Amino acid sequence: MTHTLIGRRVAVLDKGFIELLDLMPHPAAAVSGDLAIVNAARVSFLGESKGDTQDKKLLFYLLRHRHTSPFEMVEFKFRVRAPLVTFWQWVRHRTWNLNLQSGRYTEFEENDFYVPEIWRRQSASNKQASEGEIATADSAALTDSLLKHYDASYALYEQALAAGVSREMARLFLPGFATYYTAVLKVDAHNLMHFLHLRLAKEAQHEIRVYAAAIYEHFFRPALPWTAEAFEQYILGAAE
Ligand SMILES: Cc1cc2nc3c(=O)[nH]c(=O)nc-3n(C[C@H](O)[C@H](O)[C@H](O)COP(=O)(O)OP(=O)(O)OC[C@H]3O[C@@H](n4cnc5c(N)ncnc54)[C@H](O)[C@@H]3O)c2cc1C
Repeated sequence: MTHTLIGRRVAVLDKGFIELLDLMPHPAAAVSGDLAIVNAARVSFLGESKGDTQDKKLLFYLLRHRHTSPFEMVEFKFRVRAPLVTFWQWVRHRTWNLNLQSGRYTEFEENDFYVPEIWRRQSASNKQASEGEIATADSAALTDSLLKHYDASYALYEQALAAGVSREMARLFLPGFATYYTAVLKVDAHNLMHFLHLRLAKEAQHEIRVYAAAIYEHFFRPALPWTAEAFEQYILGAAE
């Protein structure tokens, strides 16, 4: 594993990103993340690594039989910038540790709002979901309206601040769900797999699914290649 994993930042949505701040075990450590999981499991009989073939076999056995606690021995810490609509869903995952930017301390800037690339249609069959796209001409008009709405909201926010209103109240003028926030989040590999299973699913909203996909592709799989392989086989690939 290269040492470039920590500090890697991946762009998500129009203005968001995910950056890996820290990883335990550290990528430079003698023991890889996959091996840390195997070694934790072997403490049951006070043993450690038995070589790649047997170690990988044990890791697959652990995941297949949902022997989950060894996977909690690996931890990821991220800095995430995402619109509130994404965090609204993310914070439901109670097993993550989270510190969020405060709109009481920081002032928002003019461009801190999410502008979608396309407008998805309401699904006819799933009340919670979207499917397909709004036609291009209508889509351009919707985006134009959205940008005007953001400009008007931000102007009211600035007016309120100029009138001496506190930051904690002036933000009532901002377009809530669209506003980008930054957070630091930490999670172990077991609970990250639970999050990925739910948020990589096609039923998950696009605005969180792209973050889950970026975490999986750019951080989880490179950090834990054996675990990722087992996860794809036994969790993502498992019949519902
Ligand atoms: C497609 C989709 C649609 C959703 N729609 C809605 C919605 O309309 N409204 C809504 O409110 N939420 C909704 N959610 C959120 C969902 O209900 C869960 O809150 C969220 O997915 C987090 O899952 P979790 O509780 O399993 O994860 P975590 O909170 O990370 O918990 C992981 C596991 O730990 C255990 N656990 C954690 N805390 C407790 C506890 N206090 N008591 C018992 N066991 C615990 C459970 O086994 C849980 O599965 C939706 C989620 C998805 C994926």
